[in-house]
Amino acid sequence: MNRYKSYPEYFRDLFGERVQKLSINAGFTCPNRDGTCGTGGCTFCNPLAFNPSYCNPEKTVSQQMEEGRIFHLTRYRRASKYLAYFQTFSNTYSDLTYLKKIYSEALAFPNVVGLVIGTRPDCVDEEKLKYFAELAKDYYIKIEYGIESTYDETLKRVNRGHTYETLVDALEKTQEIGQGKIHTGGHLIFGLPGETPEMMIAEAQTVSLLPLETIKFHQLQIMKNTKMAQEFQEHPGDFHLFSLEEYLDLVVAFIERLRPDMAIERIASEVPPRFLAAPPKWDMRYDEVLRIFCNALEKRNTYQGKLFNKFINQ
Ligand code: SF4
Repeated sequence: MNRYKSYPEYFRDLFGERVQKLSINAGFTCPNRDGTCGTGGCTFCNPLAFNPSYCNPEKTVSQQMEEGRIFHLTRYRRASKYLAYFQTFSNTYSDLTYLKKIYSEALAFPNVVGLVIGTRPDCVDEEKLKYFAELAKDYYIKIEYGIESTYDETLKRVNRGHTYETLVDALEKTQEIGQGKIHTGGHLIFGLPGETPEMMIAEAQTVSLLPLETIKFHQLQIMKNTKMAQEFQEHPGDFHLFSLEEYLDLVVAFIERLRPDMAIERIASEVPPRFLAAPPKWDMRYDEVLRIFCNALEKRNTYQGKLFNKFINQ
């Protein structure tokens, strides 16, 4: 029995086979760093921590994709289809002419079937969404929005520079302009300061009501060279870094309340230890975390959406 809707399953449903994402750093920045809506960025953010070694904006999009293709070939099962994953910073934060240039280059790469574009909800507009809607007639186009938290007080505390309402608006516009053809995903961080486990679990209900197809979860990690690293040093009592057991308990409770058709792309993140300002509590690769999570679901005889109806009708 599949106890949760996994990302590979989601792709198999769509493409009938495995699809490999190739990450790209196209040299964007973000409005929360350049002064447009804020400076200093979100307090937790060190965008380079999630940047694979082959991604470098000094290389062309195609060069990065070719290096990514070879990188994955030596590590994972061969894939015959690829998605260009614009991952670093806010990948719609530019004028449409530049976006068209880099996205066309990515789509011209052999065997590419679409784009996955990570961005902030305040970095899309009607013009850009119309362009994505056009592309979506021929390609898989997915916009991944950073949600991080559904609570405005948390978003303010981490200097996110937008409210939850901004996310809801962006998703609604994406749906409306894309006429349901633009795929949508979201990221949530568990453990942001000021949130209790009950608040985090309650977010399952909130995100279940959003027009989201996929979701990723990240455990809070304190990254070097961030405002949060400084806050952590000054007020460590304001933070709770989950043990693996605590974290998996939380994720199990969350997915029990999550809409059953929402594909779960990741349940935790993996950052090279050299980026961490606080010692990592889990000395474990992601595959192992996932294996323990699946065992926990099995042992508790539970699954995604088990409490969804009960929760949603409260
Ligand atoms: S998390 Fe995203 S929005 Fe926040 S500072 Fe980093 S790149 Fe910008």
